[in-house]
Amino acid sequence: MIEREIEVADYVSPSKLSDYVINPYVGCPHACRYCYASFMRRLTNHNELWGDFLDVKRCSKPLGKKRLTGKSVFMSSVTDCYNPLEAKYKVTRRILEELAPIECELSITTKSNLLLRDLDLLKARTRLFQRSATLFDESSQERRGIRVVSSINTLDEGFREEMDRASTIAERFDMLETCRSAGIPTILFMSPIFPYITDFRAIVDRAAPTVDAIWFENLNLRPGYKEDILAYIHARYPQYYQGYLAIYQRRDLSYWLALKEEIADYCERVGVSYQIMFHY
Ligand code: SF4
Repeated sequence: MIEREIEVADYVSPSKLSDYVINPYVGCPHACRYCYASFMRRLTNHNELWGDFLDVKRCSKPLGKKRLTGKSVFMSSVTDCYNPLEAKYKVTRRILEELAPIECELSITTKSNLLLRDLDLLKARTRLFQRSATLFDESSQERRGIRVVSSINTLDEGFREEMDRASTIAERFDMLETCRSAGIPTILFMSPIFPYITDFRAIVDRAAPTVDAIWFENLNLRPGYKEDILAYIHARYPQYYQGYLAIYQRRDLSYWLALKEEIADYCERVGVSYQIMFHY
């Protein structure tokens, strides 16, 4: 792992995902094989493989109470703010300390249970925003000023291990349960859904008592990792290979269209709040 510290002008960037995003690092040691953010490697002139480098951002500019108040803030969009090196550098923790008094809608997404290290800050934020509920819609997930999102697309630890270097699935569920018990809204992000492999019903059944909502996103194969994933499917799941070629070579949408309906039916039957975010 190549680590280096870099000085940046601002931690905060405007975004299409939310009003602002904060990425405390460049790179991500979780090294998901399907990582949509791996284009950052090229963008930041890194020759190392995605997952093998981490730039630790240092910034002297304040986050800016005025610009963030009343806005949605997303941590993080092109890294995992709780990657293992956060234990050493604590950039995310320092950012959370600075965000503590700022009334913004903060979403933290992570595949790591290192987030539990900062449970004190997350709980304090929840308590603070319960007292000033006027800012947020009472019916929304953001009403407590924060929500924790974790991606889980399988219950099979073997498949997970072949896909990423983040926390185990059991640890992610434990993290969501701990947050929920502490009064922090939680979302399970079923992403990316691997055709024929992700058993969405089993994950919904496991998650329903643990989370406030489930979001669903389909697997898109971008040029940077399309070949690798298709080769993986060919080697490990040959029975699904033709199905993958139909979706990703011949652009047949029927699998996703049918799945969307199945997900909606099932979530309504189980009574879980859900959002389907499929992109083709
Ligand atoms: S955790 Fe997120 S940012 Fe990190 S490698 Fe995986 S998909 Fe990419």
